[in-house]
Amino acid sequence: MSASARPAEGATVLVIEDDDETRGALVRELSARGYRIVEAADGRTALERWAARRPDVILLDLGLPDIDGLQVIRRIRRESTTPIVILSGRYEEREKVEALERGADDYVTKPFGVDELNARLRVALRRAAGPAASDGGRVDMDGLLIDVPRHEVRVGEVRVELTPREFEILRVLVENSGRLVTKGRLLRAVWGEAYQGEDSYVYVHVSQLRRKLAAADPEGRLADLIVTEPGVGYRIREARDRSEPDRH
Ligand code: CA
Repeated sequence: MSASARPAEGATVLVIEDDDETRGALVRELSARGYRIVEAADGRTALERWAARRPDVILLDLGLPDIDGLQVIRRIRRESTTPIVILSGRYEEREKVEALERGADDYVTKPFGVDELNARLRVALRRAAGPAASDGGRVDMDGLLIDVPRHEVRVGEVRVELTPREFEILRVLVENSGRLVTKGRLLRAVWGEAYQGEDSYVYVHVSQLRRKLAAADPEGRLADLIVTEPGVGYRIREARDRSEPDRH
């Protein structure tokens, strides 16, 4: 079976959480949604179970009693690109950003809804199954057309003139549709390693990109296309999916 044929349901999730009550609730809710579950209440057990079972996706609480969540990420990323979704406390902003910089894919902040968590897991699993569907380097998302080989962007019939950096930002975000992209990752992808820490570059160029898209989109269909995750980065909202209600 090809990886892309595997639905989110039936995927194996490694749930790493030391709080028994939270872990129990996660196991219950995710099982009810068709996931297979492997549990761990501390970092060492998590790494053993990860090695033994190779889950499809990992749900990781950052504050663990033995080794910390960041170390768990580092160990897993040495060998594997298995998607990792962070469970982050409200006051763990810095740890969360560091976790994302070290290769975690996404996060949810406690307390979170199970639907939100399920959506994040599905995006992470889809990413693992392969890049977003595109047709010969062309992406069509709710009327936004991106022709990657030609460096061309249109909203409906209107051509949007983007600078090379703006185009690259849009391309990276769209390739990770639905998924969080940190400012650090955008900097590395679009400007290069030497620009690490120059977050204002990203901010200025994303603002400009939004302004240009808005100007080409008087009906505002794409108004909420680029979502800001404060202090962390950006994500492109996913293409409108008829099978799911809008999440507002
Ligand atoms: Ca904890």
